[in-house]
Amino acid sequence: MSRFFSAKFDALTPYTPGEQPKDRKFIKLNTNESPFPPCGAVIEAVKGEAEKLQLYSDPESRALTEALAKRYDVKYENVLCTNGSDEILNFAFMAFSDENNPIVFPDITYGFYPVFCQINNIPYETIPLLEDFTIDYKMYCGIGKNIVIANPNAPTGILMPIKEIEEIVKSNPNNIVIIDEAYIDFSGNISDSALPKDSAVPLTKKYNNLIVTQTFSKSRSLAGARLGFGIACEELINDLNTIKYSTNPYNVNRMTSAAGLAAIENDDYYMNNCKTIIENREWTRRKLEEEGFTVLPSNSNFLFAKIGYIKGIEVYNELRKEGILVRHFETERLKSYNRITIGSKAEMEALIKAIQKIKAKD
Ligand code: PMP
Repeated sequence: MSRFFSAKFDALTPYTPGEQPKDRKFIKLNTNESPFPPCGAVIEAVKGEAEKLQLYSDPESRALTEALAKRYDVKYENVLCTNGSDEILNFAFMAFSDENNPIVFPDITYGFYPVFCQINNIPYETIPLLEDFTIDYKMYCGIGKNIVIANPNAPTGILMPIKEIEEIVKSNPNNIVIIDEAYIDFSGNISDSALPKDSAVPLTKKYNNLIVTQTFSKSRSLAGARLGFGIACEELINDLNTIKYSTNPYNVNRMTSAAGLAAIENDDYYMNNCKTIIENREWTRRKLEEEGFTVLPSNSNFLFAKIGYIKGIEVYNELRKEGILVRHFETERLKSYNRITIGSKAEMEALIKAIQKIKAKD
């Protein structure tokens, strides 16, 4: 740390992103990226915009915002696009929480939430997950504090039913509830409105204290483009815009904005990919269970799994030697597990083969 670094960041522990190896070609099952490339129309759209990079992007990302509003059956005024969903999460923390308005989230969840709190000087409280790693929604009902919940949760992959989410939102009318739906497209159960049935997006029309965030990083194969968005009532979106225009007005660059629009226009390609990932997930879950793993019930594009008699870190290290990267967490309740991103069928077959080899050695 230099002698110039502000003392207000003395205690700041930054978020640690998953490894992006440069030295060797790994099968990457560690950062929940999609195994599928963007569709051709997305690549063409990006190329087209590359020729106009001397011009600033549209600060409103109008065409993309309109397409998202249509896709999610809300109004233009209810949508805000951001540089990854990390950005809208940070905006929401900044806009609605402060020293006097703490935020509550599960003790096991997305590791960025405590970092957003630290950097924005927001006190936070965590509520332990139950023994089976589910969220006890009753603990959040009427809590009278701002709340953030990832649904499905990370790194467990477990989905909370929409009824429980609604109880939390309804019982905290004077607080903001943020539902982080980074993985919701992998929850299956598509409803008549072409939305996953446990998505909280429709509830944003009924409750003015709810913000739903989603990302193009997982289900729409655009992790490297950085595109996220939030849906909420107009008043909340206006507040989030105040933060955006006070930090980074051109937060979504023109190539990303065009990529996002082309992705929405080719939604069938991406939603079919989600179906394939769900099939691969269920295949992998069965295979891991056959190999003696305990696997949490996942509604996301990853599995959280452990084999009791080999330490989590050993499974991680041995897989690494076999050329497969997964994500390991060293905290007490998580350390016997590994989080495994669902890739292509061939990648999942390679994973199972590697696991059989590791077991044979043990
Ligand atoms: N929420 C959760 C639960 C996540 O796991 C991630 C991915 N790291 C994000 C949000 C942020 O994703 P992005 O900024 O790529 O949209």
